[in-house]
Amino acid sequence: MFRQAKWREPLIFELSVEGRVGHIPPRVDEEIKESVGDVFQSFPKELLRENINLPELSEVDVARHFIRLSEMNYGVDSGPYPLGSCTMKYNPKVNEDLASLDNVAWLHPYQDESTIQGALKLLYLVEKWLAEITGMHRVTLQPSAGAHGEYVGCLIIRAYHKFKGEVNRDEIIVPDSAHGTNPASAAMAGFRVVVIPSAEDGCIDLEALKAAVSSRTAGLMLTNPNTLGIFEEHILEIADIIHDAGGLLYYDGANLNGIMGKVRPGDMGFDIVHINVHKTFSTPHGGGGPGAGPVGVVDFLEKFLPIPTVEFDGKRYYLDYNRPYSIGKVRSFYGNFAVLVKTAAYILSMGSRGLREAAELSVLNTNYFIKKISNVKGLSLPFSHNKPRKHECVLSASKLFKDTGVRALDVAKMLLDYGLHAPTMYFPLIVKEALMIEFTDTESKENIDRYVDVLREIVRDAYENPDKVKSAPVNTAVGRLDDVKASHPRTMCLSWRMYRKRLLECSVGEG
Ligand SMILES: *Cc1c(COP(=O)(O)O)cnc(C)c1O
Repeated sequence: MFRQAKWREPLIFELSVEGRVGHIPPRVDEEIKESVGDVFQSFPKELLRENINLPELSEVDVARHFIRLSEMNYGVDSGPYPLGSCTMKYNPKVNEDLASLDNVAWLHPYQDESTIQGALKLLYLVEKWLAEITGMHRVTLQPSAGAHGEYVGCLIIRAYHKFKGEVNRDEIIVPDSAHGTNPASAAMAGFRVVVIPSAEDGCIDLEALKAAVSSRTAGLMLTNPNTLGIFEEHILEIADIIHDAGGLLYYDGANLNGIMGKVRPGDMGFDIVHINVHKTFSTPHGGGGPGAGPVGVVDFLEKFLPIPTVEFDGKRYYLDYNRPYSIGKVRSFYGNFAVLVKTAAYILSMGSRGLREAAELSVLNTNYFIKKISNVKGLSLPFSHNKPRKHECVLSASKLFKDTGVRALDVAKMLLDYGLHAPTMYFPLIVKEALMIEFTDTESKENIDRYVDVLREIVRDAYENPDKVKSAPVNTAVGRLDDVKASHPRTMCLSWRMYRKRLLECSVGEG
């Protein structure tokens, strides 16, 4: 059951053996040597190196080193990765294959438009499909991530009010259950953030919302289903309250996985939507790798979209920069093209029925898990515990903590010892000792059953031997990191030299 024993993989420089050779490069032609020789002559002497300090290894040494490093990692291709809000679902490999085809991967952004008609058509179609899925009028594919999409959306809100001459609208309302990027994006776009509390059922407190709106309200940012996985039933009423006050509704669509093909933000009354295609539409995104956060808008906001837009005149596709009301450029070129190719491949291979079924499965998996976990002592489902959840659910380990001193953090760490990825912890902030779990559509019943069995075992351990849980993990390459030191720029090890120097301070494994 255990994936790996604790060990410290040496640095590749430590594996170096003098004189060991992996590959012998082919001899350089005399002709090339002569011409390169000339080039070297023209370089300033002080810029030329006598030797470069590279490790000396055989091919098998190198292959094994990197495979061992990869085994220290955990990804969606290793096992369940139920990181709530992050939608870490399996990404079909065919989408990767399509994104790495030569005529996709070797495109150059400075190519003439006449030579990239296929790529522009693909962007044009992805825009149309995402508009259909979200119920929006037009979509920009440029933002690089969800948070970037939020920022672009907030700039559009600002441009809209400015266009109407209502420059005093400087407040964005955000519920206290929101993803942290929402208030951050609003603040970065120059708004004052007004936080409203959730009601007892975990949804928007309508009275608090009514009290918060005013002539300064620029808009509301909302996730629906919210971060507790609960669908805001009063969404149409919420939309009326904001619209009547002259504000716009922004939909954080990072978690579209539980509703696509079922309901559309546009039909709920939202004016702007961002979509995390790296979550819902097949792009591996652990570790912050390239993503895309397209933003959709209703018809009266189209003119504010960033430049360029992709247009079709009946004969050819082209990029349109001539848009006087645009908020301007938000990204180099036209966004993360390869990610959008995967989006296209995923949508085409799933079809509308497939997307709807994925949403249904993700919701089924969440509620199956809730049912299975409901008799595990110490864990509870706060807020509306009888209401079904959508893409995810948030458990609280606060009773476990009270009974045993074992925290949500300890439970998460011990899951690693079983070779499983931990859920999201301590978010949303309105749940104490939160464990936020999202199995997505791609996890099987067997995997969910096993996850529940392991959680049950950990909880039993917590009641019988709390110290064991508090000292987990013991089977991973690295034990408990000092979270502050590990992410503080002054103590982070950013190169192998720093790493070697700081081996002890950095508390890496047994090293
Ligand atoms: C992931 C997420 C975001 C942010 O998306 P990034 O691509 O990580 O910037 C925003 N809101 C919610 C609800 C999310 O789950």
